[in-house]
Amino acid sequence: MKAEILCVGTELLLGDVLNTNTSYIAKELANIGIDVYHQGVIGDNAERLHDELDLCFSRSDLLIITGGLGPTYDDLTKETVADYFGLKLKMHEPSLKKIEAFFESINHVMTDNNKKQAMMPEGCVVFENFNGTAPGLAVSDKDKTVVMLPGPPREMEPMFKEQVIPYLMHFTDSVLVSTNIHVMGLGESRVESMLKDYMLAHDNPTIAPYAKTGEMYLRVTAKAGSEAEAREILAPVVEEIKNRLGKYVYGVDVPDIQTAVYLKLKDMGYTFSTAESCTGGLISKKMTDIAGVSEVFLGGVCTYANNAKEIILGVKSDTLKKYGAVSEQTAKEMAEGSRRIYGSDIAVSTTGIAGPGGGSKDKPVGLVYVGVSTGEKTEAFRLMLKRNYKDPRNYIRESAAINALLIVLKILSGITD
Ligand code: AMP
Ligand code: MG
Repeated sequence: MKAEILCVGTELLLGDVLNTNTSYIAKELANIGIDVYHQGVIGDNAERLHDELDLCFSRSDLLIITGGLGPTYDDLTKETVADYFGLKLKMHEPSLKKIEAFFESINHVMTDNNKKQAMMPEGCVVFENFNGTAPGLAVSDKDKTVVMLPGPPREMEPMFKEQVIPYLMHFTDSVLVSTNIHVMGLGESRVESMLKDYMLAHDNPTIAPYAKTGEMYLRVTAKAGSEAEAREILAPVVEEIKNRLGKYVYGVDVPDIQTAVYLKLKDMGYTFSTAESCTGGLISKKMTDIAGVSEVFLGGVCTYANNAKEIILGVKSDTLKKYGAVSEQTAKEMAEGSRRIYGSDIAVSTTGIAGPGGGSKDKPVGLVYVGVSTGEKTEAFRLMLKRNYKDPRNYIRESAAINALLIVLKILSGITD
């Protein structure tokens, strides 16, 4: 397969912006065995883009374009490519909803031209933009394919890595196999500093850190002629990373954090229970997603109102009055209450402010306390969870549940830092 890269933007021609997209994409394509035969830059001009499409498809099969997907009149990429393939543009509702939510979250009025970013040629493949508003897309007609991506590198690069590469894998003969090494108790930058030399020394497999809703993992990806060969390349590298990160690795290709907690509890012969407020039963839900979990998970309560915290869990009314429901003290008493009710070996609690309202300067939206009680001691952990424009309340609750499970896993694994 022959590919070309074309960057659209008058600012690139004028030299105002350094064209980093081309080198990024060229490297990524080389990694998956797609040969790049030409690279180009043009200004924001439909006619010249049209000519470039003709030229490209006279010699290549795949064109990757970046830029010109924005809301303004000079953003013409999608319209020109749709016209070239004879495709009509139609409103893509999921993209429109995302763009509306984005503007709502930053409290800006969405102008009509922003809707243009959600107009998509019929039959295209859409790549979601998690870091901006303009989605990416791909259109194909027989042996011609155009992939269109937003210009800003911070939007384009993650989109390329997470969505475009899997899409392009259909076009190559080589096989990519990935394995995820799950890490707890270490941030992305610390993992990177612990592995930097090792990461730089490898280009097959590649090693890339990812962070997702409070979880962190390393994706190790090998490319080879067959899956068996790729797995052979992966195995020693995965072992070496596990050795280097030691107790901070909680699993390889574990489906989720609750499964990791379940396996650890089972291994240690411990029972577990919950007392949830802001997560409203999400931790219980996650644990009970696992069939057969009753051998370690005894149950949980959802005590949302103060009264319920007092009556069901025995949280002291003085504690609630003096420190409030969202406090270290309440989190601890909730966890202790759950352990008492269920007779479990370890209990976790959550109490926090999921928003959108209810925050204050001292206790802002996103503040969550997680309590953990074991036979030995009861501790509380303060989390300041990031908001996410898609759905801040849900994001905070989901992230609190995952973080609470990660904290339980850390305690069970004897990680104290
Ligand atoms: P656009 O998607 O055309 O609206 O591009 C928006 C911005 O992305 C530009 O103003 C540049 O700052 C940046 N950008 C666009 N193309 C590139 C490129 N090839 N390399 C690096 N940055 C770019
Ligand atoms: Mg532009």
